[in-house]
Amino acid sequence: MILPIVAYGQPILRKIAQDIDKDYPDLKKIIADMWETMYFSHGVGLAAPQINKSIRLIVIDAAPYGDEDERAKNFKKVFLNPKIIREEGEEWAFNEGCLSVPEIREDVYRKSTLTIQYYDENWNFFEETYDGVMARVIQHEYDHLQGMLFVDRLSSLRKMMLKRRLNDILMGKVHTDYRMLFVNSKR
Ligand code: ZN
Repeated sequence: MILPIVAYGQPILRKIAQDIDKDYPDLKKIIADMWETMYFSHGVGLAAPQINKSIRLIVIDAAPYGDEDERAKNFKKVFLNPKIIREEGEEWAFNEGCLSVPEIREDVYRKSTLTIQYYDENWNFFEETYDGVMARVIQHEYDHLQGMLFVDRLSSLRKMMLKRRLNDILMGKVHTDYRMLFVNSKR
């Protein structure tokens, strides 16, 4: 089932998402819905708060970045209860966008390498290290679980320049080909 995407301004995007356990209701269905929603809206990743669930669950398929990095072609993963335990390397700029913040793309600086612990959809535990575009997509989605958005990481000048457009999103004044949940609209 394709779900609506929570838009910038909704309080759930500002909450720290909670770990879940194996008994979490309908987990398989939620993961399937997240894949469907992500592909429908042409995202490379989706975090559960974006479908209005404050739980620590991320899905990523970085295949669209396959031209930039061969390894991204096969980078398709579910992250349950992920925990980034280390970030290192030089910060580099990458142009990020977000399904919850439509029509805005900005260069964001983040460290190049990370180590993450997580469970996959079958509750197998992993600790892995990533760099390049894979690390980047993980960092962006992981931020969603920490109540952060990529626009928070911009300079105060850039933020000021984006203020009106962010406010438009708050008011539901954006056009997307996927459904969204806005704060100030009755849609
Ligand atoms: Zn996002």
